[in-house]
Amino acid sequence: MSSVNQLTKKLEPISKKDLALITQAYSFAKTAHSGVERYSGEPYFNHVFETALVLAELGMSPNVVVAGLLHDTIEDAGVKKETIQFAFGEEVLHMVEGVTKLGKIRYHGVQRHVESLRKLFIATSSDIRVLIIKLADRHHNMRTLKYVPKEKQKRIALETMEVYAPIAHRLGMGKIMGELQDMAFPYIHPEEYEKVKKLAEPKRKEKTEKLTKLYKILSKELKKEKIYDVKTDYRLKHLYSIYGKLKRKDFDIDRVYDISALRVIVPTVSDCYRVLGVVHGVWRPLPGRIKDYIAFPKPNGYQSIHTTIFTGEGDIAEIQIRTEKMHEEAEYGVASHVGYKKTGEKPIIDIAWVKQLFNSPPEMTESGEVKDPPVWVQELADSQEKVKEPQEFLENLKTDFFTDRIFAFTPNGDVIDLPYGATPVDFAYHIHTDVGDHIAGAIVNQKMVSLDTKLENGDIVEIQTKEKSQPTRKWLDYANTTLAKRRIKSSLQKKRKS
Ligand code: MN
Repeated sequence: MSSVNQLTKKLEPISKKDLALITQAYSFAKTAHSGVERYSGEPYFNHVFETALVLAELGMSPNVVVAGLLHDTIEDAGVKKETIQFAFGEEVLHMVEGVTKLGKIRYHGVQRHVESLRKLFIATSSDIRVLIIKLADRHHNMRTLKYVPKEKQKRIALETMEVYAPIAHRLGMGKIMGELQDMAFPYIHPEEYEKVKKLAEPKRKEKTEKLTKLYKILSKELKKEKIYDVKTDYRLKHLYSIYGKLKRKDFDIDRVYDISALRVIVPTVSDCYRVLGVVHGVWRPLPGRIKDYIAFPKPNGYQSIHTTIFTGEGDIAEIQIRTEKMHEEAEYGVASHVGYKKTGEKPIIDIAWVKQLFNSPPEMTESGEVKDPPVWVQELADSQEKVKEPQEFLENLKTDFFTDRIFAFTPNGDVIDLPYGATPVDFAYHIHTDVGDHIAGAIVNQKMVSLDTKLENGDIVEIQTKEKSQPTRKWLDYANTTLAKRRIKSSLQKKRKS
């Protein structure tokens, strides 16, 4: 059974005020969803409770946990916006509304729409915390996917794999990303899933037993060196990521070396190097396999020292060494930055870290070609340059970046990425010069509109064209993008010459 204590104990130390707020949200959501059941037959409330629990585990602030409890009250329980605002305040309402809006965007399994959808998601959410709530919501929906009618399962799983997991990746939330992928995997590739599971599970078990033995030896040596404050963790490679490797290695599991690794977590950076010294004193490292991501962090900000050693039993093993802080960042990513520090301090956001995150290298396509980094990623990174304060950072995400861009759809679902203030004329020229040069009218969300209408995020825009239509001087006033203005001018010039 769920209880409010399960939530609040994860947020300790917690103020009386926050405790009261969470308790209130808990009862509010319970009442709002009462009598409604999920496909699984359990009360609907369990879903919002589990969502809030993930958020509490991520160390999000009480306000975000409250928003998690309330995230479905507007859409599914018909609660009025004003009620939430009155009882829980503007900030909570803003987050709940954000999640509600995101819930309306659907993925229809068309590959070319995927990148657009991710963009639209990020633009619509307007606040990183909204995205994190949505990820927590999806995490529970995936955990209960088996109860959902068969015909819906695959669409939801694909959406998780193509839209949510990459967003978690982009936000540096490695743990959530891996779990989402592993939960979606069996619904998308059922046969491959079984095959990978059969190959990997015994191997993972065997490797982990070996690593346990290694750690016993290492532990003694660390004590000799007076390194006491050590935590360990076994990194088990996620099934979906093993699948990725297996595909490239003819399904030969013995060629996937990093199926599990021993993690050693210590308090400080200098401890990390001392542990590395001890490890190499006991076992011989494989040349060329020592990676110092502390001195040279990965482009996404990842830090750790990795080394692979000969175990002396004809086998090799990977050891990863990191501090507690590096561990949290690797697992929870941006959540560990916008999160609520248990010390009760203000949320701390390391701007350099966020910048690195959004500066991560261009994505690769399946065939290994480099995809261009989307313009908006660079713009976001640039916009963070001058920011010092965490609050300012969040504000900047809202103002400088998100509200400055419009993502509008063609009737086929392609997304056109435009600056704020763009009109159907800009939209048309961004599709193709031919479309722009022959605009006869525009239909936005199935309504005829004038050509100077300002487009909004998520608008579906249909441009009507006629062979005889031609740009006029007036169009220069309607257009707000350089591209459209340039094309209109060049078309007007051509007309004059002919
Ligand atoms: Mn939900």
